[in-house]
Amino acid sequence: MLDKAKLHPATQAVRIQTPSTWQMEHSTPLYLTSSFKFDEAEAMRAAFAEESDDNIYSRFSNPNVDEFVQKMCALEGAEAGFATASGMAAVFSSMFALLKQGDHLICCSSVFGSTYTIVTKYLPKYGIDCTLVPANDDAAWEAAVKPNTKMVYLETPTNPQLEIIDLEWAGQFAKKHNLILNVDNCFATPLLQRPIEFGAHLSVHSATKWIDGQGRVLGGVIVGNAELVREIYLFCRNTGPSLSAFNAWILSKSLETLDVRMQRHCESALKVAQALEEHPGVEWVKYPFLPTHPQYNIAKKQMTAGGGIVCFEIKGGLEAGRKFLDSLQLLSMTANLGDSRSIASHPASTTHSKLSDAERASVGITPGLIRVSVGLEHVDDVIRDIVQALG
Ligand SMILES: *Cc1c(COP(=O)(O)O)cnc(C)c1O
Repeated sequence: MLDKAKLHPATQAVRIQTPSTWQMEHSTPLYLTSSFKFDEAEAMRAAFAEESDDNIYSRFSNPNVDEFVQKMCALEGAEAGFATASGMAAVFSSMFALLKQGDHLICCSSVFGSTYTIVTKYLPKYGIDCTLVPANDDAAWEAAVKPNTKMVYLETPTNPQLEIIDLEWAGQFAKKHNLILNVDNCFATPLLQRPIEFGAHLSVHSATKWIDGQGRVLGGVIVGNAELVREIYLFCRNTGPSLSAFNAWILSKSLETLDVRMQRHCESALKVAQALEEHPGVEWVKYPFLPTHPQYNIAKKQMTAGGGIVCFEIKGGLEAGRKFLDSLQLLSMTANLGDSRSIASHPASTTHSKLSDAERASVGITPGLIRVSVGLEHVDDVIRDIVQALG
């Protein structure tokens, strides 16, 4: 007998499937229905009383969404999950469902821009206090703990500087102070890193990035401790940031290829990083699996590969960065990352252009910083384009 519970997570991402209908379809069909009907009043009562798992309404549950969530739980080693309309809906819901007025949150200062806005602008509006702490400053994290601290939130690798935070340390820190550890695992994906194994209670994702991997749909997901996920589920069921069936259908199919795609992204990204290290027009290169990375040993400990993002500092600062983008002939200039197409961005002249030089420096955005999301093109072509654009 094949023990299905012991299948490798990558196999489960291919094989977990909503039971087929009487049509015996091999691929899961798209369940575009807002509600589900019942044959008897008793069945409907039981569903509302949560005595059965029957679907009621697609804001609560839907076969396509459930299939996607089950695969994500298998990949992350999580007890339960809930899928949302975007990564930000996942981040927002994980905070607003679990925190209340008077609570305090510790958040790493290098987090995704919109996450930064939520914790500095919206949480305080509802009486939830936040302390920002620099990644890897252990003393600052310890000093930030207050009697009312409830949650600690971080990303690793961080965006765009690719700092690595020691998840084992973070797990122990959260346990010691009895805090909920909430990790944005978007940059690594569960194929490279499983935060729950290090003591995280929740792992949140923007499925828009590597999980879709083809730049088509928005989506998000929260997986982790069943009790916490239940709170988040009830919050979302009532407030409505649920994932659409169509996007879930796309994302569930995407998970079938995540393992092979991530292997290729990571292999190519390492080669791009190595090529950049040798280039005279480059000041420095950062990639988690390059031995020159400041947290290389931690990356090796908690990740199975370095991920698909490489960042580097081009010699010549702001102007050189802009010129580099204009000289690219293959790589796309776009705001997304985690696509099959390679993408280059220059934060100082785009996403962070409104900040002062000092503010940019404080969040690690140097004038010539270039972030490359390495796609699935042949790596030699990606390197050729980067090298010709460096001039
Ligand atoms: C993109 C991103 C998000 C936000 O996800 P959306 O799907 O765009 O809402 C959150 N965290 C990280 C690390 C991201 O890269």
